[in-house]
Amino acid sequence: MPKFKFEYIWTDGCLPVPGLRGKTKILDLKSYKGGVKQLPVWNFDGSSTQQAEGFASDCLLKPVSVYPDPTRERGYIVLSEVLNPDGKPHISNSRARVKDDKQFWFGFEQEYVLMFNGKPIGFPKDGFPAPQGPYYCSVGDGVNSGRELVEEHMELCLDAGLGITGVNAEVMLGQWEYQIFGKGALKSADDLMISRYLLQRLTEKYGVKADLHPKPVRGDWNGSGMHANFSNKAMREKGGEKLMTDICKRFAATHKKHIAVYGADNDQRLTGRHETQSIDKFSYGVSDRGASIRIPVGVALNKYKGYLEDRRPASNADPYEVVAAIMSSVKGK
Ligand code: ADP
Ligand code: MN
Ligand code: MN
Ligand code: MN
Repeated sequence: MPKFKFEYIWTDGCLPVPGLRGKTKILDLKSYKGGVKQLPVWNFDGSSTQQAEGFASDCLLKPVSVYPDPTRERGYIVLSEVLNPDGKPHISNSRARVKDDKQFWFGFEQEYVLMFNGKPIGFPKDGFPAPQGPYYCSVGDGVNSGRELVEEHMELCLDAGLGITGVNAEVMLGQWEYQIFGKGALKSADDLMISRYLLQRLTEKYGVKADLHPKPVRGDWNGSGMHANFSNKAMREKGGEKLMTDICKRFAATHKKHIAVYGADNDQRLTGRHETQSIDKFSYGVSDRGASIRIPVGVALNKYKGYLEDRRPASNADPYEVVAAIMSSVKGK
């Protein structure tokens, strides 16, 4: 019987920023039809992942979504939720708290910085490179650094069937972005988690780190965010200035609730500089990259039909918390 390789991956209990963990299960199967039906619930040692105490260490892994593993023959990546031994969601399991709504679409802009020896790649050994300006969407040695890894990551995302919609070099040297789009809150957040997993896997091969910290270099250097573009059916099909600005006003009222789940150390990034609004202010505006929420100019020109961009989430934010907060504020409950 052929042997299939299933990489069960999950989010650990480390605080303030959880990490990803994974382990391989080999199964003898006549054939694998895809999906979770043929995959058993598994377990792991939660005392080694900040999810349990040593005297009662078992946590359960419940497969919830399966992707082809582009790095392995007959291999699959199994996104799993962590459950307590009694089958209830573990407290670290933010996915289980999302009430999915398929009419919501999300497009995440995941920014990150490739690091070597504690510095962004491309930075000189001593001191700093020339000031920001030439690095955004750059081409050419000296202004672009890391493209080989980024290209390979893009290919892995495509081969895994993720909704990756684009890639670009970012404002700081060594900083990059890719976008993940999905229809449905869980689908889009799941794809984002898999894209992060593939990125971390790839860094092992290159010997560089992918840093999701929102402000990896202090000073006059851009931080990293995870802008969350979102829409529901009414925004896409009905639109109108009133509908869109009413949503923005509801977000003004829930600003603190959002910031609380938009990532650790986000205060270092949301300063009012470097294309951000201050963490303690809320604003929205057409085409405004200094606002908390930007109404894209194309949306305004199209009778305010389309989507909004929440610019506040940090690069290290939990996408399940982000989609839950956004859907709650859009719905006003
Ligand atoms: P920016 O101009 O802010 O850099 P990007 O092009 O990087 O924008 O990202 C925009 C994201 O918004 C893309 O991932 C795209 O798929 C997503 N997007 C486009 N339309 C919608 C929509 N109706 N609902 C949700 N997301 C959308
Ligand atoms: Mn972008
Ligand atoms: Mn960006
Ligand atoms: Mn953006």
